[in-house]
Amino acid sequence: MSNKPSKITDAEIAALKENAIFAERGMTHFSARFLVVGGLMTTDKLRAVAAIADRYGDGTVHFTTRQGVEIPHIPYAKLDKMRTAVAKLPLEPARSGKCVRAIVACPGTYCKLGNIDTQKLATVLFKKFGKRGKLPHKFKIAVCGCKHCCSKPHENDLGVMGIATGFVVFVGGMAGETPRWGDKLPFVVSTERKLLTVIKKIIDWYAANGNDKERFGTTIKRIGLSNLLEETEFAP
Ligand code: SF4
Repeated sequence: MSNKPSKITDAEIAALKENAIFAERGMTHFSARFLVVGGLMTTDKLRAVAAIADRYGDGTVHFTTRQGVEIPHIPYAKLDKMRTAVAKLPLEPARSGKCVRAIVACPGTYCKLGNIDTQKLATVLFKKFGKRGKLPHKFKIAVCGCKHCCSKPHENDLGVMGIATGFVVFVGGMAGETPRWGDKLPFVVSTERKLLTVIKKIIDWYAANGNDKERFGTTIKRIGLSNLLEETEFAP
């Protein structure tokens, strides 16, 4: 039997989820996730997270597998005050729902093996595509700086790997119940400008061809990578 207090409706829980506030098991406490792009957070944001966790949570913070920051164990009764307090701080809710999610990146910016400035690229990509919504499902992007793939680009809907001559792109990867290894596009993208064009075409193709609640990898499996390549007329 659910421990959910009777005053919380399913519609309210769904609305909270849209704002990156998730009901925990037992439904009496919630976790609030905040946006982190490229795995980088300024110290003022970290202090703000700590203050909210101390005041409204239980003084702990969880770092998610996709480099996000989550404050767990916030009682339902404190949610409104927590959201009012957060609105005055330099924090943004994480992206949630059928949209481009926060973009993760390895520290290729300063890693001795890094071929590209991964964290800057994650920021550029988020600025360009981070508001993209109304997609068939969530759309995860990861950037890595070399063939070691520390940020797991093959397990994201779209992965970018920096190499000495440009960017390798993987499409349709995902974890979950039926994991799928992303397909490597058969060309190297030589410049950041061209990379932005390629990614836009990929997201547009997914928006046009994906069924509701269908992950990108499943769309590729259903329609075929060759169709994606033909219809997007890639000219790297
Ligand atoms: S993927 Fe390469 S550049 Fe990025 S952290 Fe790993 S080893 Fe360094």
